[in-house]
Amino acid sequence: MTTKKVSYFYNPDVGNFHYGTGHPMKPHRLSVIHSLVLKYGLHNKMSIYRPYKASVHDMCRFHSDEYIDFLQRVTPQNIQAFTKHLSHYNVGDDCPVFYGLFDFCSMYTGASLEGAMKLNNNHCDIAINWSGGLHHAKKFEASGFCYVNDIVIGILELLKYHARVLYIDIDVHHGDGVQEAFYLTDRVMTVSFHKYGNYFFPGTGDMYEIGAETGRYYSVNVPFKEGIDDVSYFQVFKPVISNVMEFYNPTAIVLQCGADSLAGDRLGCFSLSTKGHGECVKFVKDLNVPTLVVGGGGYTLRNVARCWTYETSLLIDEEISNELPYTEYLEFFAPDFSLHPEVVTRQENANSRQYLEAITKYVYDNLKMCQHSPSVQMHDVPPDAIHEDEKIKEEENPDVRISQDLEDKMVDAKNEFYDGDKDQDKPDEDL
Ligand SMILES: [Zn+2]
Repeated sequence: MTTKKVSYFYNPDVGNFHYGTGHPMKPHRLSVIHSLVLKYGLHNKMSIYRPYKASVHDMCRFHSDEYIDFLQRVTPQNIQAFTKHLSHYNVGDDCPVFYGLFDFCSMYTGASLEGAMKLNNNHCDIAINWSGGLHHAKKFEASGFCYVNDIVIGILELLKYHARVLYIDIDVHHGDGVQEAFYLTDRVMTVSFHKYGNYFFPGTGDMYEIGAETGRYYSVNVPFKEGIDDVSYFQVFKPVISNVMEFYNPTAIVLQCGADSLAGDRLGCFSLSTKGHGECVKFVKDLNVPTLVVGGGGYTLRNVARCWTYETSLLIDEEISNELPYTEYLEFFAPDFSLHPEVVTRQENANSRQYLEAITKYVYDNLKMCQHSPSVQMHDVPPDAIHEDEKIKEEENPDVRISQDLEDKMVDAKNEFYDGDKDQDKPDEDL
């Protein structure tokens, strides 16, 4: 096994955004992860970049001009003027308008875009963007805490150089926005493992959703029931991904590592441990295909931080201690202060062996239907999304950072950053 060249994208401002009081999505988790990554010394084995910020133009590669224009203009102060637009763009409770919303989208989307570019130019084998992975965002609207779909925009960039891109999603929720974007094409195969049934958000992802037209058989869905554990999950994940590789033979992979599939998640209902979740990441890494790794959901902050720190270590082949290093956030990890605490499951595993074997077989039978490795004539390669001179300008100009005034507004509810016991008192919050 050869060690991979890993690029890691992190904007120090991205953890300062705040969705609002009581909202389960806490960008602050990104600051906690970065702090652990540094204290474990993981930055020594990868290249760290302050990423490019995506422009309106970049976002409109997928989204409609009207929707992105709305995201750019709406603020908590002027929201009254947009009353009619809010429901049209599905902005409100789940996807609130908060201070710096557009900047937040620019940061997480720019990081995925630059990661895709670095992979295209062979500057790295693995690109990591824990701030990305917002898989629910749609062309015309926000959905499930996601506004701009950085994954779709990253994949579109990869498609400039790659004939076939594989998307793998291990978030507890169905990767509906990405599936929908590529439902009609064989250039991207989407494979999502998720909880399905009983109106679990977003309500799509049944195994019978297989793609349409040229894309028929190129959407793969693995619907699990609640409570799935490490052994059951991997028992399906491994053969499905192995078969996908055999039949599809992608030249690039995007892996969405949503951590709401971990046991004890505030919104999720699976029973994976950080080791079980990480096993999937390691399996994908060992396929030796250029891979863009992104984050996604994850609503019990301390466990998200553990999971993505551990997965960073797996991606760079560095063994790290189970004892967490001291950071200013150490109190979050009480009482064990460990990387891999014992898994406490809230529910029985509702997935019988027979059920898991049946979905694995169904997926295999469909994969046999796809034409082996579809290819495209790659004529003129379009130019990269970001020109080198733009990137340099960005790095040299710290003024593009959020103004202090805006930052002050974003941090006004400091306690919301802390995913303490109070947050855990509302496990039934319906989102
Ligand atoms: Zn999710």
